[in-house]
Amino acid sequence: MSDNVMYDSPTEFLHEAANSGDLCVAQSVRPNDDGTYAVSCSCGRWTASAPTMEEGLRLARVHTGSQR
Ligand SMILES: [Zn+2]
Repeated sequence: MSDNVMYDSPTEFLHEAANSGDLCVAQSVRPNDDGTYAVSCSCGRWTASAPTMEEGLRLARVHTGSQR
């Protein structure tokens, strides 16, 4: 049993990603073994690491340009 996935609606992200090709429509934030978070995008050309999941999500929004 895996309890790695604690955040809201990851399946929606993954559903979007499945149809997105190389577009920046979905980002994921996954915990690493060392306590940081790995951030990746559905475009497949962008990854980042963040100290917290919140920061990872912020970086993802910056990447997609959706942050106001
Ligand atoms: Zn992207």
